[in-house]
Amino acid sequence: MNLKRLEFTLTTKCNSRCIHCQANVSASKKDVMNVKDAYNYLNEAISVSRLESFMVFGGEPMLYPNLAIAIFEKANQLRIPRIDMITNGFWGKDKNHAEKLAVKLKNAGLNVMSISIDAFHQQHIPLGHPRNAALASVNARIENISWNVTVVEDIDAENEYDKRTKQVLKELEPVGIEVHIHKIIPVGRAARNLRKYLQQESLSGPCAGDSFLGSGLTNPDCITIEPSGEVDVCWHLSIGNAKKEALSKIISLYDWQKDIVIKTLVQEGPTGLLKLPEAKNLRFHEKQYVSKCQFCMEIRKNLCQSF
Ligand code: SF4
Ligand code: SF4
Repeated sequence: MNLKRLEFTLTTKCNSRCIHCQANVSASKKDVMNVKDAYNYLNEAISVSRLESFMVFGGEPMLYPNLAIAIFEKANQLRIPRIDMITNGFWGKDKNHAEKLAVKLKNAGLNVMSISIDAFHQQHIPLGHPRNAALASVNARIENISWNVTVVEDIDAENEYDKRTKQVLKELEPVGIEVHIHKIIPVGRAARNLRKYLQQESLSGPCAGDSFLGSGLTNPDCITIEPSGEVDVCWHLSIGNAKKEALSKIISLYDWQKDIVIKTLVQEGPTGLLKLPEAKNLRFHEKQYVSKCQFCMEIRKNLCQSF
């Protein structure tokens, strides 16, 4: 594996309840990555790869600011060039506190920050909070700060969500930071809650890699580690557990052909998983699924119990 990017799901806890969320997160979840484990994963990954970037997200990583800052410091000591975080900006609730936090983040080495704002986030997080978080980060001179915006169709579309998102963006325009707009990922809550806006995709054919993660399965350049230690090459598609074996070994020994699930996904796609002996009792109504990835995750969730 030619690993270039390492990602941590710092926690599965989130203080928002966005209806489009693709991650399985909630306020009641308690999983948080341990700082010692995080240092170990960084050391291990660096020992076998030349990392270009490192990202922390969740859930909401800033629910644990000291932990996030300690991890950014470690990544900075290891000279990873791009140190990145996705946050919903709730920590801008108190302006003074946000100013102090942003300076600490900057000093820890964070140089890229995406603050998620749109119709979905702002159903739960008042707009003033991400605005303050962004302004504090600009003042702290964090190099690359942007709004991370999700649309259902496009920013000029007439559906209620995209219209509201356009309005949110307009209100935040004076902050003057970059805007990154991407389309909703039709998995998780998005596939369930926003189905009427999503176009039905064909479920057949090999996995072409995740368009958002941008990494294929045959030679992934990005892995995500969960608080449980699971090392994923796609959404919850684990190739080992870094709490149980050295991450350097998991990275070095990765071979897509040795894992029957991954091999099937590469050669046939998620529908191929239904032919595996372990799936013989599973019944799926393919019409229920709006995207190949939603279908894939649902089958894998069921297969995991028998694998
Ligand atoms: S989209 Fe982000 S802020 Fe919203 S529930 Fe999911 S993790 Fe939390
Ligand atoms: S969810 Fe499944 S089909 Fe989608 S990119 Fe990941 S492995 Fe491929």
